[in-house]
Amino acid sequence: MTSVLIFIVGLAFSVQAFIGFIFLVSCIWEKERRATLFSGLQFMGMLAVLVVFFFLSSIGFFETALGLAVLIAGLLVAGSLAFLLTKRTAPNHQALQGAKGLIVGDVKRYDEREIVFARRRSLRPGSEHYKIFYQKHPGLEEVDARKRAQGGSLGQYIGTIDRPHEGPNAAATLASWAVPIHLSKPDAYNPQPSPNLREEKINLSPEEATEKVKGYAQSVGADLVGITEVNPLWTYSHRGEIYHENWEDWGKEIKVNHKYAVVFAMEMSFEMVGPAPHSPTVIESMRNYARGAFIATQVAGFIANLGYSATANHLLHYDSPMVPLAVDAGLGELGRLGYLITKQFGPRIRLGAVTTDLPLIPDKPVDIGVEDFCKICKKCAVCCPSNSIPPAKDQTVVNGLLRWKLNAETCYEYWGKVGTDCNVCMRVCPWSHARTLPHRLIVMLITRNKFARRIFSVMDDIFYGKRPKPKPAPKWTRFDTI
Ligand code: SF4
Ligand code: SF4
Repeated sequence: MTSVLIFIVGLAFSVQAFIGFIFLVSCIWEKERRATLFSGLQFMGMLAVLVVFFFLSSIGFFETALGLAVLIAGLLVAGSLAFLLTKRTAPNHQALQGAKGLIVGDVKRYDEREIVFARRRSLRPGSEHYKIFYQKHPGLEEVDARKRAQGGSLGQYIGTIDRPHEGPNAAATLASWAVPIHLSKPDAYNPQPSPNLREEKINLSPEEATEKVKGYAQSVGADLVGITEVNPLWTYSHRGEIYHENWEDWGKEIKVNHKYAVVFAMEMSFEMVGPAPHSPTVIESMRNYARGAFIATQVAGFIANLGYSATANHLLHYDSPMVPLAVDAGLGELGRLGYLITKQFGPRIRLGAVTTDLPLIPDKPVDIGVEDFCKICKKCAVCCPSNSIPPAKDQTVVNGLLRWKLNAETCYEYWGKVGTDCNVCMRVCPWSHARTLPHRLIVMLITRNKFARRIFSVMDDIFYGKRPKPKPAPKWTRFDTI
């Protein structure tokens, strides 16, 4: 009996020391100096416990009455803690309803003309559309004019923060930008079936169609794929972004007649987001927007060739904001920072979608504990250089939705200042860590257990700091060594 207990406890201590060791390796691989130091200390502590245990065991301490009592008490405490940290705690029923779980009042559809990108990217001073828009929104004219004078969405120069060495990174960013521009014309986002097909319509059951569309999306580069029925509330009411002098579309009502949306996510590289807000992060954002345009266009083309209507949604052609669609498609939950947080990559992703009338099987929204975690954490709000993320524990009602509402105006202003899309909030979010084995274990625990969320939120502050610093850039993107 005693030897069985000794074996179990010895095994448990060995496993915890092994986890401590792989966490140390993970921190070294992540190039996290502070976390490496703390995980090193933690591993030494775990090793010391293991050594003391084997020493006591070798001198027969656990054969004594006191030793046996210590062994049993230790097992009971450790067993209870393990149970408390791994059992699934009460689900978040709001999250399980998807984006409509956020609705607490009247929701007005977003008008694409009003979003900050459309105002400052598309409207040209002196044009008819400019007059129409600012007559209706006089309060915005001055502030938009000021920002326009500072340059486009990323200011006068991409990578201003890395001047005078930003040139190659700006060149890489703009190379990727060319892809969504190329794919933002109607024949690209609304493809027609190929004339070379033998059949006009290929009959598939919804189950077969779902398997094929998801498989195809993954084969052309999507890392996560989900399906939802389109909730018209999340569709923009009117077109506001214009890229090809198609001004007749500006202000047109957007009608999505498709019942389904295939929503997909692309993982952003951990190494490239690490130096945020420096310029490697904007290369990575744009690379993934290009990937998103490429994937969406091909998936829409695939569905068109099956004989159904499909529309690609990507950086330069959105009929809907992507996050509510992705929440409804079960890819993750909305976080405090305003991005989707996924179980697999946290907010370190970009999204795209294809709407279609091809009958598909929708996925269900998920509860992965994001809302609860964000109430405790607040790291993105603390680290945001423009104070654009609300720090309050609870969400507020905005447009009939209970959520943390990012101040897009001040966030965008900061982008203009640094000449990148910043991404500091994405970098510091505890869900964004590289998916090494220890982080996978942590995510597994925090998605199911509220006590684990509290413990790991505090541990993240201890190991990575309350305000983690940018990490070194990958060599080819270094802006300080040219
Ligand atoms: S940093 Fe913290 S509060 Fe912000 S989104 Fe991530 S988990 Fe939520
Ligand atoms: S992108 Fe930067 S400025 Fe904008 S909310 Fe995130 S941290 Fe703040």
